[in-house]
Amino acid sequence: MMFDVVVVGAGVEGSATAYDLIRRNRRVLLLEQFPLPHNRGSSHGQTRVTRKAYPQPFYTEMMNFCTEQWTQLQEKAGDVLYRQIGYLALGEKNGRFLQDNIFAMTQHGAPFAILSPGELREKFAMLRYPERIGGVLDREGGILMSDKCLRALQRLFVENGGVIRDGEQYQSLTPGEVIHVRTNRGEYQCRSIVFACGPWANKVLSTVGLSLPLKPMRITVCYWPELNPGSHSADKLPPFFEENCCDGHSIYGLPSEEYPGHVKLCLHHGPDIDPDKRDACDYLWTVDLLKDYVSKHFPGLVPTPSVVESCIYTNTPDKNFIIDRHPKWKNIVFGAGFSGHGFKLAPAVGQVLADMALDEPVRYDTSHFRLSRFGTGVGQAKL
Ligand SMILES: Cc1cc2nc3c(=O)[nH]c(=O)nc-3n(C[C@H](O)[C@H](O)[C@H](O)COP(=O)(O)OP(=O)(O)OC[C@H]3O[C@@H](n4cnc5c(N)ncnc54)[C@H](O)[C@@H]3O)c2cc1C
Repeated sequence: MMFDVVVVGAGVEGSATAYDLIRRNRRVLLLEQFPLPHNRGSSHGQTRVTRKAYPQPFYTEMMNFCTEQWTQLQEKAGDVLYRQIGYLALGEKNGRFLQDNIFAMTQHGAPFAILSPGELREKFAMLRYPERIGGVLDREGGILMSDKCLRALQRLFVENGGVIRDGEQYQSLTPGEVIHVRTNRGEYQCRSIVFACGPWANKVLSTVGLSLPLKPMRITVCYWPELNPGSHSADKLPPFFEENCCDGHSIYGLPSEEYPGHVKLCLHHGPDIDPDKRDACDYLWTVDLLKDYVSKHFPGLVPTPSVVESCIYTNTPDKNFIIDRHPKWKNIVFGAGFSGHGFKLAPAVGQVLADMALDEPVRYDTSHFRLSRFGTGVGQAKL
């Protein structure tokens, strides 16, 4: 069967790419190795943080577009996908992290408020941070209902004429102007192919001779009970992030919404893993670090999580994404290494991947995302 574009991987990046392409009236096939929905990659779970506050202005610029796109998707889906309740960046007052966030939001016109340590304590009495810690409140940040977002992208893709084949694994291709794609169930032809395979990116990209500097990492998702149920709910506490605060690692959290009476608070780090053996590793040290953090800074929570789940990050060395084309075959395109912050940015990532797949002008400066930034020899294609 002939398609304009085959997209491999129905996580949020592949689904957003497929949805972008179908709105440009192309014939698109979205392939997914597992039956949908599944919880084995990086895009599952009920909630994700969204924010315009970024230390790098290029992400803030992309988030202006993404915020509009999530709002439009919500209208089309007829469901609540995006709750604009703000986002709180925590850090040393006048420190580099907060200053960089302020700079990016100022440059791209995102509304925010600076909170002195005193104002932080007054506004968020459930937090206990030392005198040197202040905050920046990103007013357009909030929560994305991630499972619902993914379902909406896939449903609208199919309603617009797209084809999803789940439980079907990409295996290999023969490159050329027309690409021949082989799966465990059949064969397809297409003019371009987009790989958005999350933690499996290197396994899949090895079939086209590429090897990317990626590290899949198991993330332990912890839910901490409130002593007074409702005391950390979304009307009182927005999603939050503190950099390099927990034995050199960052933490992030969301108010008690997803599991009533429980705050989601996680380490932005974990053990390196093979995605096909996700839980066969020692991850309890991450929970121990968090227990210590929660007892120090969240006196209104029980410092032992009552629910623990798992998910996977795929990190690059600089934690910026890789979005690029195959060095030899320009109609082979890939997005990978979303480094634990790619959900909110999926509409822009999907647009860039779609532009590259169709060989149309790309709407952002993608130099930050090029594979070649890691030096010559990295990711050299052998195909
Ligand atoms: C615990 C956790 C919290 C996070 N919090 C946030 C947050 O608050 N805000 C934020 O913006 N981001 C967050 N992220 C990051 C964000 O969720 C990820 O960056 C994003 O989901 C990556 O999506 P993906 O499509 O690249 O990967 P995935 O969701 O893993 O999708 C890749 C897909 O490709 C499929 N696939 C692989 N190989 C093949 C093959 N051979 N054939 C067919 N299909 C294949 C896989 O099965 C999978 O479904 C978080 C991530 C985690 C794990």
